[in-house]
Amino acid sequence: MIKKLLYIDLDGVVADFVTAMNAHPLRYQPPYDKDPDTIPGLFKNLKPIKEAISSVNKLLDSKKYEVYFLSTAPWNNTSAWTDKRIWLEEQFGDKINRKFILTHRKDLVKGDILIDDRPNNGAKDFEGEWIHFGSDTYPNWEITLKHLL
Ligand SMILES: [Mg+2]
Repeated sequence: MIKKLLYIDLDGVVADFVTAMNAHPLRYQPPYDKDPDTIPGLFKNLKPIKEAISSVNKLLDSKKYEVYFLSTAPWNNTSAWTDKRIWLEEQFGDKINRKFILTHRKDLVKGDILIDDRPNNGAKDFEGEWIHFGSDTYPNWEITLKHLL
């Protein structure tokens, strides 16, 4: 069987970025009050979204899919690019070795399915199926997995 190419966004799908951002001590201090996603190290200590880790592990182990993470890191927060790579390895170990793509143009990536919580950075124009995570149709991982497996 030819595996389908499945891409998974990080923030809001696997990693709980919003909670960490709002709890950060620098959140309301200039200059970060205007651009909170530029707080250095912000992406290092994110909690996983409920059931995300076990669900992604099922997809990684599935014979149906070849899984990659497809995320965007803030251009003006260079630590985010490294933090996301380290975070993924902490969660999934060597299983995700070379399965990580950072881009601001998700529409340029070739594939069958993208799980993403927002239309931004090309997600809504992705060439395959866009699974809108957090929407009424795919509100959580349980329902998303049911659709995929
Ligand atoms: Mg997201």
